[in-house]
Amino acid sequence: MDLYSGHINKLIEELAALPGIGSKSAQRLAFYLINMPREKVKRLADSMMEAKENVRYCKECFTLTDKETCPICEDPGRNHKLIMVVENTRDLAAYEKTGKYEGIYHVLHGAISPMMGIGPGDIKLKELMERLQGDVEEVIIATNSSLEGETTAMYIAKLIKPTGIRVTRIASGVPVGGDLEYIDEVTLLRALEGRVEL
Ligand code: ZN
Repeated sequence: MDLYSGHINKLIEELAALPGIGSKSAQRLAFYLINMPREKVKRLADSMMEAKENVRYCKECFTLTDKETCPICEDPGRNHKLIMVVENTRDLAAYEKTGKYEGIYHVLHGAISPMMGIGPGDIKLKELMERLQGDVEEVIIATNSSLEGETTAMYIAKLIKPTGIRVTRIASGVPVGGDLEYIDEVTLLRALEGRVEL
């Protein structure tokens, strides 16, 4: 039996497909949206479409940005010889929030996971190796300390070693399996400062 109208059911279904939203939250959000003023709903829908259509990958570091090159890569005040490798843009944002990291980034958009069928070719690894043809002194691998993150770190270290570029890994002050984005700034900084050679 359908308890709600078809339109509401469809809305609940779409919302429930978003990460972290269970069916109860989806129902609550759907009813909230229905009761919102029309113009507010439109503003929300428009901003979703605008973000979808205008956000792209930075051509240097592959973070999400509105322009061809992101503000970090364009900043001459940053150390462009120091590249921190992260799994996603949220992790980049976590390190940016500390305000203490002066290098630039490389966003992989994922991690190697044989179990999920994600191989080196599925993340921005080839792009990283291309960047290393330039003038780079150190690559800091800041992938998560999950099994996938560690696998990815080891894989990247092995690739970079022969180039002679210094490869380091953030210290494991970061809890195992912890997503960087949920870790406080002090812990992040300590992990960065205590990084070890690979
Ligand atoms: Zn960039």
